[in-house]
Amino acid sequence: MPVPGCMVMMSGRGVDDGRETAFSAFDRLPVGVCLVTASGIIHHANPALHDLLGCEAGGLPGRSLCEFALDHGGPGGAAQETGQAFRILRNDGSARWVTVAERPWDSGADGDAGMQRLLTVTDVDSLYRQTGGAIDTAACTEKPVVDALLEASPVPLFVKDAAGQYIAVNHAFSRLTGIARDEMLRQTAFALTGPDMASQHVGHDRDLLEHDGSVRYEAPICTAEGAMRMVNLTKTAFHDGSGKPAGIVGAIHELTEARPNEERLEAILEQSPIGVSVSRRDDGRIIFVNTRFAELIGLPREKLIGSRARDYYLDSHQRLRVLERLRGGGGGVTNMEVQFKRADGSPFWTLFTVNQAVIQGMAVNLAWIYDYTERRSMEEALRDMASRDPLTGIYNRRSFMDMARAQLARAHRFHEPLSVFVLDVDHFKRINDTFGHATGDDALRMVAAGCQAILREYDILGRLGGEEFVVVLPGATADESRVVAERVRRHLARMPIEATDGTFRLTASIGIAGLEGATDTLERAIHRADLALYRAKHLGRNRVAVFEPGM
Ligand code: GH3
Ligand code: MG
Ligand code: MG
Repeated sequence: MPVPGCMVMMSGRGVDDGRETAFSAFDRLPVGVCLVTASGIIHHANPALHDLLGCEAGGLPGRSLCEFALDHGGPGGAAQETGQAFRILRNDGSARWVTVAERPWDSGADGDAGMQRLLTVTDVDSLYRQTGGAIDTAACTEKPVVDALLEASPVPLFVKDAAGQYIAVNHAFSRLTGIARDEMLRQTAFALTGPDMASQHVGHDRDLLEHDGSVRYEAPICTAEGAMRMVNLTKTAFHDGSGKPAGIVGAIHELTEARPNEERLEAILEQSPIGVSVSRRDDGRIIFVNTRFAELIGLPREKLIGSRARDYYLDSHQRLRVLERLRGGGGGVTNMEVQFKRADGSPFWTLFTVNQAVIQGMAVNLAWIYDYTERRSMEEALRDMASRDPLTGIYNRRSFMDMARAQLARAHRFHEPLSVFVLDVDHFKRINDTFGHATGDDALRMVAAGCQAILREYDILGRLGGEEFVVVLPGATADESRVVAERVRRHLARMPIEATDGTFRLTASIGIAGLEGATDTLERAIHRADLALYRAKHLGRNRVAVFEPGM
């Protein structure tokens, strides 16, 4: 320990700030005290500091803190806040452990002197030398040094004990992983990464503890932003006082050469109009999403990361189909139409592509979702338009035939009756001639609507062309159809139709044919209904006729 009180404090060269009297109060302190400029030049130093640094009385003023490895960043630097131990160099080149505390020193408005700092330097070397055991040493001196080193390092660092539990991580580590230090302590690698990767880490650690030395390898880690990033891990084993392996110290280096690519890739993903997600195959948890994906689902990224991909499917059957296809060979799904649901529960259609991949040892599903809702509804509208008659809005000939044929096949399969009728407006040419083509069009629309009003929900109405309509009645025999057809005929005959100069009425004739035998076809049934219609016209119109052989 320094000998207090035996030296006289000296003033700084060329500076007389009139504070010698005030500063002499420090003369008797057993700890080193000095007043330095902002740039670290010593103005005043007490006897204890001269002694500590191995200088003769008055030898310190004018010299720089740097010469003694004593400057630790000035005000706001590391020395200010803690009593961390530093190894300083004495005048004779020998080393000593000290702790340094620093405060700004208000010395009035006299120029450069206004920027001074007051340093208190405590000798802890004797403490260090007195403690024999390595563990005590660690507790008293090395522990603060280690802590300071950990904290000061911009490189993410971690320390694990021999059981693989984290016993220290630094701020850079927390910043990189997004996991607070307290959360990390006493956890193992399994808290950081998937079980496959964690097992690899544990394997490396075990090797190190058994065989000593260092190891360096690449591994993926999940960053605070939820992105997967490849990093280099450097690990070294350390030992306790008795030489037994006590744990692992590790550093995480981001792969600098990979960074430009990675950044470019991230920029591309960010601007992608396609939602992208990466999920772990073992537990289905999402580990990466781009902005578009988050937009589509309507959740912030932080909420999506760690959630399960399965939660966003609307229909569990669709999900199972995706899984089946992923498992069954090929290993992927391409542009499958899948419905997902947003956070508010509303559904949206996507073209969904999933591929399995292994990213640095981790089995993942890479999913691409393209919002298809708008295009799909447009397609539906187009499909619908293509199947409708533009004048009346009922099915056109082609789609009527498709749907009627499906009903006919069903009737054959279940041995159920089915019949068709064909309806033709009577003297329609005259209507056109009398009231004009536009009114004729109106009349056709009214006829279609009139038929629809009378027919049952599962009857199918189509326009064959001109003023000719066709209906298929599933489950109805020809006689049952006659009842329906009569009702339609009566309804049309009573229906007033607007023309420019008042209203008029029209009539229609209907021919009916039932299904005949297991090999009957739609075309033949319609042909027979046509023959019956011809008979109805022939008999005076405005009537219903059922097909009979010989017509
Ligand atoms: P019938 O009682 O024997 O059936 O006599 P009809 O005049 O109804 O028969 P015809 O087949 O000779 O005439 C059908 C007319 O329907 C001829 C055609 O100009 C008219 N027509 C066909 N399609 C349309 C249409 O879309 N709009 C209008 N306004 N008229 C149409
Ligand atoms: Mg006609
Ligand atoms: Mg006709």
